Amino acid sequence: MDLDKRKMGLIRHGGHEPTEIQPGCLIGFYFAAHWVPTARNFLSKLIAAYTAINSSSKKFEIIFVSFDRNEDTFEAFSQEMPWLIVPYKNETLRIGLAKKFQISDSFHLVITTPLWKVISQNAIEDVKCKAAQSFDFWESISSNVKSYEESPYCEKGHLMGFIDQTFKKRCAYCKSEIIKGWTCLECKMSTCTICQEFYSNSASDEEFKLQCLHSHQMRHASKMNEYYMSRFLNSKYTCRTCNQLPDGNGLHCFSCIFDMCFVCAKIAYEKKLKKRCEKGHEITWTHELCAKIQEKFGKCEFRCEICGESYMGGGGYACQACEYYVCIPCVRKT
Ligand SMILES: [Zn+2]
Ligand SMILES: [Zn+2]
Ligand SMILES: [Zn+2]
Ligand SMILES: [Zn+2]
Ligand SMILES: [Zn+2]
Ligand SMILES: [Zn+2]
Ligand SMILES: [Zn+2]
Repeated sequence: MDLDKRKMGLIRHGGHEPTEIQPGCLIGFYFAAHWVPTARNFLSKLIAAYTAINSSSKKFEIIFVSFDRNEDTFEAFSQEMPWLIVPYKNETLRIGLAKKFQISDSFHLVITTPLWKVISQNAIEDVKCKAAQSFDFWESISSNVKSYEESPYCEKGHLMGFIDQTFKKRCAYCKSEIIKGWTCLECKMSTCTICQEFYSNSASDEEFKLQCLHSHQMRHASKMNEYYMSRFLNSKYTCRTCNQLPDGNGLHCFSCIFDMCFVCAKIAYEKKLKKRCEKGHEITWTHELCAKIQEKFGKCEFRCEICGESYMGGGGYACQACEYYVCIPCVRKT
């Protein structure tokens, strides 16, 4: 369905004349129904926030999209709403908007830029906690979307907003304090611009589907030397499973600062070890091996039974019952 933003036929309560959204306003698409008790309670809060935000000049418009089951409850529910309303009879538009924003329940507030780019997929908590103040944050995101070609997307695909040092956030990836960075309102996570750039340039890894020691899906990353240089002032880094220095390409977990070279990735992905431990148990690839050892013994490290080498944080082949571990380089030789 093609949503023509100028010809949506929005009305105000009681009116029948089509009304347009004032250009430049941030938009809140409010999906709700009278039969949802939380939606009824929330309404007065939303009206208060809406009125406060627009007190000096019009900056924010709300469009009510009803999930009411009949026109009478719709009428009663929308009576006090000071904002724009999709006429109940225009079911095509109501369903079209719900589909566009992927709404699956009957109580939702989606905030978008004037050009309908989603700033927050569910802003109900924002309004509940911060009332009219939420607007400043939405606005900071929106003004950024205008000036930058593209705001980045977080790991879950939400549009991120620009932040500076006044927000006092830490980067979820390099853990440093953010001077310039991005934040996701939904995931409540922030990243510095450098980490975010490398994250955005990495791809989800469809080839090996390997996980780091904390069971995050690793990303297919390149130019990691540049990343380590710009973030940690040293272009050298090691593959956690072979202790070699990769050439900048490989699998990376941004949250754990964890790398695996492609040689290791290939082995962990396809090699089934025929060897068994001394008691005859199977030895299997265990990506979270070091996390488990840390839980038990407090050090994030394992030592290979065959070559004697130690690995910090890396996965290995293991019989966990006997604490019998074999490293990838040794498996590679078999
Ligand atoms: Zn960072
Ligand atoms: Zn997010
Ligand atoms: Zn390796
Ligand atoms: Zn991780
Ligand atoms: Zn972790
Ligand atoms: Zn070994
Ligand atoms: Zn065993």
